[in-house]
Amino acid sequence: MSDENFDYVRRRLGYDPDLPEGVEFEVLAYAPILWSGWEGDSAAVLFRILPDGKPQLHVLDGVDIAPETLLQALEDRIAIYERTAVKTKAFLAKARGLPTPREWRWCCTACKSEGRGDEPAVCPTCGSDDAWYNYKTTVDDRQPAVERLRGLLAPREPKDG
Ligand SMILES: [Zn+2]
Repeated sequence: MSDENFDYVRRRLGYDPDLPEGVEFEVLAYAPILWSGWEGDSAAVLFRILPDGKPQLHVLDGVDIAPETLLQALEDRIAIYERTAVKTKAFLAKARGLPTPREWRWCCTACKSEGRGDEPAVCPTCGSDDAWYNYKTTVDDRQPAVERLRGLLAPREPKDG
């Protein structure tokens, strides 16, 4: 499998002044580190010196994160990435004039209870985890989900004749 970023990380680590010159090494894993500024540590790298070195942590560019704090820094980064993804989705929805996920309604097709926001993992009323109908509406929409979804929620009438 070709991974241009993997090749880039391997090449950059090879130039790194922290590594003894001319040493053979193997990159075992890497993860990009994202910042909103113009300068920052660019990747977390797990590598080992060949032929039998132990895995070592390294921070490409080494601007702020020390290798001994790398794993906690990555945990902190994940929390920030997740918040950023939520904010970015909300921003896109707002910019496009669409309701944000917080404004959506969900309705349980099993017990017909409803609520606002992204659909819960399980229905808080009946506990069903596979009977959802989630639809995008606005906070100003006063029509109950059960009414709005009448056609989808109503049990099928048995056909006579
Ligand atoms: Zn339910």
